[in-house]
Amino acid sequence: MALKQRYKLYEAEDTATQPWRWFASVQGAQMWVEQRIRRKWWRSVSDIRHVILEYPHPGKMSETTKEGNVLRLQMIPDGLNSYSLIHEMAHGLVWIYGNDSEKDHGRRFAGALIECYRHLFAAEIANDLIREFDARGVKWDPWP
Ligand SMILES: [Zn+2]
Repeated sequence: MALKQRYKLYEAEDTATQPWRWFASVQGAQMWVEQRIRRKWWRSVSDIRHVILEYPHPGKMSETTKEGNVLRLQMIPDGLNSYSLIHEMAHGLVWIYGNDSEKDHGRRFAGALIECYRHLFAAEIANDLIREFDARGVKWDPWP
């Protein structure tokens, strides 16, 4: 059976982002995210101005919620790395809960994820991600 979009996206992202970079403290990770939401690009595409980072979060999946201009990231025990944080920030960016097919990892999210890597991390990773998406049949729309 063909993999669903969400799982193909996870695999593509996992491949494009190796090797992973881990934070040594929650405070370091929190500071890293705060530095990124202050970037001009983020401020032009999102109204999120504050981040609450909760770690470690019990469960199998990290969770992201947005209330007003506050983004709450609840990261699972093995989620304290820059790529997992970028992924969750992209969920905050396309906050259209329940409106992007395949459990919120649809075309719109995939496109936003590419731009998050490009503007918050490195253009090379964004390009690698596009290549992996296309190789695996992950559907994405240019964002915004
Ligand atoms: Zn996700």
